[in-house]
Amino acid sequence: MSDRRAEMLKEMGLWPVWRLRRAAGKNAPAAAEAPQEQALEGARPSDRASPVTPPSSRAAARPAAAAANDERRARIMRLEWGELKACVASCLDCSLHAKRNKTVFGVGDERASWLFVGEGPGADEDAQGEPFVGQAGKLLDSMLAAIKLRRGDDVYIGNIVKCRPPGNRNPEPREALACEPYLHRQIELIQPKLIVALGRVAALNLLAREATIASLRGRVHAYRGIPLIVTYHPAYLLRNLPDKAKAWADLCFAVDTMRDLKSRVPAPS
Ligand code: SF4
Repeated sequence: MSDRRAEMLKEMGLWPVWRLRRAAGKNAPAAAEAPQEQALEGARPSDRASPVTPPSSRAAARPAAAAANDERRARIMRLEWGELKACVASCLDCSLHAKRNKTVFGVGDERASWLFVGEGPGADEDAQGEPFVGQAGKLLDSMLAAIKLRRGDDVYIGNIVKCRPPGNRNPEPREALACEPYLHRQIELIQPKLIVALGRVAALNLLAREATIASLRGRVHAYRGIPLIVTYHPAYLLRNLPDKAKAWADLCFAVDTMRDLKSRVPAPS
């Protein structure tokens, strides 16, 4: 292992875990983990429930509200940053508004190459109005530092929903659906080169399909044409330290992917 790689592992808090796994004789690549470890995946215990709106539910919900929803989406898609932030700050469009303290719009470089998306605010985020603060936020900052990134510097951080789901539960499908135009508009404005979905809830909502996180890791997907990579939510990694090694593999994959994306010469227009 090179000094640089060892240094990055230490910065991310991976070094002791890495050594333990080697001592246990597990030298296989992260993508080839044992099935029983894959079964543990998901950002939170309640991830076993589907976080994605079933197609049948979407179809049933559309007729009455379709026109209003389409008009709302079109209006949001025309908003610039200031208007979009104000719109989110006053939003009452799903039940999550009732118990929020602050909306959590997102933070960072508004023309970032990197966009990290989690599922929703927790208690600390709800209190401060910023995504990924508290222990999970510290780990995310360490993960960013391990690949020579930091929030606000070519990095933007957002969530699937802007208001805290009570009790840190997963967002309900209707809540994620109501909030989706805001994230969509943020992504349109940022135009990131690469999206990193943090956790199963973020991944499944961005990709709009059911899948295990194991089947999504290690591949480049797309959100509306933008390359997207899936890794674990930092809150999950805090409770499942051995999986930090898998997250490290995902970050290395993301760095390689970004390098490849930046090296591509745009086709002449
Ligand atoms: Fe509005 Fe999103 Fe908050 Fe729901 S979660 S009230 S859609 S900002």
